[in-house]
Amino acid sequence: MAKFTVTIDPEVCKGCELCRSVCPKSVIEMNGAVNAKGYAPAFAARAEDCVGCASCGLVCPDGAIEITKEGE
Ligand code: SF4
Ligand code: SF4
Repeated sequence: MAKFTVTIDPEVCKGCELCRSVCPKSVIEMNGAVNAKGYAPAFAARAEDCVGCASCGLVCPDGAIEITKEGE
């Protein structure tokens, strides 16, 4: 099965949690840390479970998420 890399820019993320709510594989969690704007950003806590559906990237209002297939 293909592997995917989930990259979330912690300085762009506003911590809205939409990405976490739509992920069918519970890949995304919220970071306990706070970014420069005062938001707790999302991060790929279980990136190995990502199926590359891209729902998180589509729902993100700030375009903070990039999904790439390994090897591409
Ligand atoms: S691409 Fe799909 S499975 Fe992967 S983190 Fe985003 S919502 Fe979850
Ligand atoms: S949807 Fe975008 S802005 Fe909202 S928590 Fe996820 S990465 Fe951050």
